[in-house]
Amino acid sequence: MNNNQTFSLEQKEYLAGFFAGAGQRGFTPFLGKLSDGSYTGDASSGGAAVETVYGTPVEDLCKEERFKFEKDGLDSYEDLCRYAAEDKLPEGADMFRIKYYGLFNVSPAQEAFMLRCRIAGGIMQAHQMDGMAEMAEDWAGGYAHVTTRANFQLREIQPRNAVKVLDKLVDIGLTSRGAGADNLRNITASATAGIDPDEIFNVQPLAKAMHHLILNTREFYGLPRKFNISFDGGGRMSACADTNDIAFYAVRVGEGQAVDPGVYFRVQLAGITGHKQFAKDCGILIKAEQCLAVAAAMIRVFIENGDRTNRKKARLKYLIDDWGDQKFVEETEKKLDFNFVRMDLKDCDYKRPVRRHSHLGVHPQSQEGLNYIGVRIPVGKMLPEQMRGIAKVARRYGTGEIRLTVWQNLLIPHVRSEDIDTAIEEIKQVGFDCDADPILGGLIACTGNFGCKYASADTKSNAVELGDYLKKEVEMDLPINIHMTGCQHSCAQHYIGDIGMQSVKVKVGDENVEGYSIVLGGGVENEQAIAKEVFKSVPFTEVKPLVATIMKRYLAERKEGETFVQF
Ligand code: SF4
Repeated sequence: MNNNQTFSLEQKEYLAGFFAGAGQRGFTPFLGKLSDGSYTGDASSGGAAVETVYGTPVEDLCKEERFKFEKDGLDSYEDLCRYAAEDKLPEGADMFRIKYYGLFNVSPAQEAFMLRCRIAGGIMQAHQMDGMAEMAEDWAGGYAHVTTRANFQLREIQPRNAVKVLDKLVDIGLTSRGAGADNLRNITASATAGIDPDEIFNVQPLAKAMHHLILNTREFYGLPRKFNISFDGGGRMSACADTNDIAFYAVRVGEGQAVDPGVYFRVQLAGITGHKQFAKDCGILIKAEQCLAVAAAMIRVFIENGDRTNRKKARLKYLIDDWGDQKFVEETEKKLDFNFVRMDLKDCDYKRPVRRHSHLGVHPQSQEGLNYIGVRIPVGKMLPEQMRGIAKVARRYGTGEIRLTVWQNLLIPHVRSEDIDTAIEEIKQVGFDCDADPILGGLIACTGNFGCKYASADTKSNAVELGDYLKKEVEMDLPINIHMTGCQHSCAQHYIGDIGMQSVKVKVGDENVEGYSIVLGGGVENEQAIAKEVFKSVPFTEVKPLVATIMKRYLAERKEGETFVQF
């Protein structure tokens, strides 16, 4: 890459600048160990042998940074082939690096690999769903999970099948490159992008372009820590963008401001709800065609300056805590050949309140006569025959497109109004419902101890049991979000739930049983709030009646118009 080239303000296509070879100023890619045993990578070294990684002496690197330093994770395919040939799970440095291919050794929970894909903005095609079903059936545990990054995970993959799974994924037009370890994770976006009558801007091409930029830019691997990016087009459905390291939000700017009236983007930084923090607006206004350049520059600032000595302080949040967001913005600006417009968020027409559970049921699209159908996938689990059934409906009544959502559900878009009833009937035959059930529609769960060693409880099974119990016990009349997460990593984002739970082991008599600590009052976007812990270490058997009591009390005592978050 030529580091002297700059990203041009005139470029109107999102990716044109990158694919035409236009780079950004002042970034020295770390090249690692040379064949003669010397090192490159320190921007000040001029290529001389300096044992540092972006300024951190090699001897100070944390364990995972050393793994990356010794060998690039993207060069581990041969290692994976060797493990597959031996039908053996990798450990230590090899395992860390093989996560660059989206494969995780999840023992002891399961003596197998878990595969995490990349599906930009959650949008996939029916033939890809069929392919995933085949992989789930032939080489994994006979099921797939939709995740909270609008993505698919397969589990129980024996090492001998790992390479077959990776190769097949590419054959069906998907990838898992960089889906694990310290890399840029699946790009999320508004699931209704391009079909939402309420949206300000269609962010689907942006998410796709960002996805391909990552796949084709070697420097964007081996960050100090994992990194999440989301694009929100300002429509009806939340993509929980404010939980990401970088969130781009479409806004409108009216007359009388420092810029021409029109659609722009705001940038929010350092969301990490497991650490009880939402992404915060950093005060800049950019054009749609600048989003990718800004994202790339921000990633590069993070690569160069993030902490590589302490994993607990390596996420973007900690760099920004240290610097303040304005220094981060200034350092980003130095890498671009245009200056940011600074503007108060209140001078922009920000998105309208999101419509809860609008990921379920039938909704008219911005294209006349077409609709999207939101399908409820209980805790995101799909069996191969269900995946094939959904693919068939998408092909027969839509265009074959299927959109996974961050709410662990999916949409089938482009269904003609006259086909809706039949399509729903066929979805029901597959075993899924489409109704926006106020309790089941917002029930989210991470993998739990069934497949993840960090969990203290079987979150997915418990969530289904809790949902069924609450359905019988409570007549909820407005959509509520319940998030059950297995540990502090918060994959199910319990702090943004109206009711959030984190699993714990609870001592009952001489026994350690599954239980949860319960937080209440979380929300995203216009309802943004970090839920607060109200109950600690409750055995799961007691969680069910307790949550029912909390919901009933809300229904009985709320003031007119008072939401659960406000209660
Ligand atoms: Fe595993 Fe914890 Fe993530 Fe649940 S939240 S999937 S237990 S790491």
